[in-house]
Amino acid sequence: MPEFEYTGHPSHVVFGVGSAEGQRFMRVIATEQAQRVMLIVAEADVRLADGPRSALGDRIAATFTDVRPHVPVAVAEAARTAARDCAADLVICVGGGSTTGTAKAVALELDVPIVAVPTTYAGSEVTPVWGLTESGRKTTGVDRRVLPRHVVYDPRLTLGLPLGISIASGLNAIAHCVEAFWAPGRNPITSLMADEGIRALAEGLPALRRDTGDLEARSRCLYGAWLAGTAFATAGSDVHHKVCHVLGGAFDLPHAETHAVVLPYATMLAAPRAPGADARIAAALNLADEPAGEAIMTLERELEAPRSLQEIGLTRGDLPRAIDLVADTLGRLPTPVGHEQAAALVTAAFEGAVEPIPVR
Ligand code: NAD
Repeated sequence: MPEFEYTGHPSHVVFGVGSAEGQRFMRVIATEQAQRVMLIVAEADVRLADGPRSALGDRIAATFTDVRPHVPVAVAEAARTAARDCAADLVICVGGGSTTGTAKAVALELDVPIVAVPTTYAGSEVTPVWGLTESGRKTTGVDRRVLPRHVVYDPRLTLGLPLGISIASGLNAIAHCVEAFWAPGRNPITSLMADEGIRALAEGLPALRRDTGDLEARSRCLYGAWLAGTAFATAGSDVHHKVCHVLGGAFDLPHAETHAVVLPYATMLAAPRAPGADARIAAALNLADEPAGEAIMTLERELEAPRSLQEIGLTRGDLPRAIDLVADTLGRLPTPVGHEQAAALVTAAFEGAVEPIPVR
């Protein structure tokens, strides 16, 4: 048995169809005794907040809808000003990772509690990680004040998430699970959660591809996303998340799709770092005969997920800089990755290569 350390991140989680509505929602937040709630929901998603809005009635003191991807500093400032102006004693965010990120930006400065109602599979709602973007540079940090106190998972709210976003976001969640097998803070508990998270998502995603209105499939995916975020919050990030972070930030690539494309190649490179990881990931994907990286590719083919970085916006002219940036970042990991391997990873992901990348 390996020695390990485990740090859980305390949050009260409620999962169930209809949990973001009426008395069921009010029961979740009763302990907060909030009187001046700030609701954060993206303009395009305002209908998703109908449940909390009608349950809270005149306890809603302000609604902030100017949500943008990757939380630009100007948006964070505007949301903080709105929270100060209404003297918010609770922030409720309804939406994807960008919306949760906006609530975290408020909590980081104002130390106001958050109730998160996630509507994608990003997983940010169960991590103490915040992110802000300024002039194309993304800064992230860890702070206990940004961890939502309550998380309400209502699968009904995800029924309208478009298929392409659902698949990419679900693969983003699988990426959290997969990397949790070799990331620096891994332990037997995060592996258990990651294992179950992969199983739930690998079952739910193909089913929702057949029918985006399949509530049971949506529930499996949202449950998997919770496990994924929770495993990731404790295990931390390594090769895969670092590559996605660098490429996404430098070339403005779409977040979830970048994860989908990079994951098989990052897995080929990094899974051998942790004994047993490769076999457990493949088994959780129900593809025990294949190495984990190839098993992920098989699932992604079935889901018709984006396959290459060139398909999602990286140009051939960007490639040399992309390789240098990734090599520089991976070279500074506690277990560094050499330039040649970093170049092989980025090139294969750029092309959407089907053959395994050389790992030595
Ligand atoms: P997102 O929040 O930008 O949402 C993607 C799109 O889906 C948006 O257009 C949104 O309006 C729409 N949408 C969301 N829910 C919907 C629904 N139920 N029905 C219809 N449309 C819906 O994207 P995301 O992938 O959820 O989050 C990505 C962001 O989250 C990135 O900035 C990423 O860095 C961050 N993130 C942070 C952490 C963390 O721990 N801090 C973890 C994961 C992701």
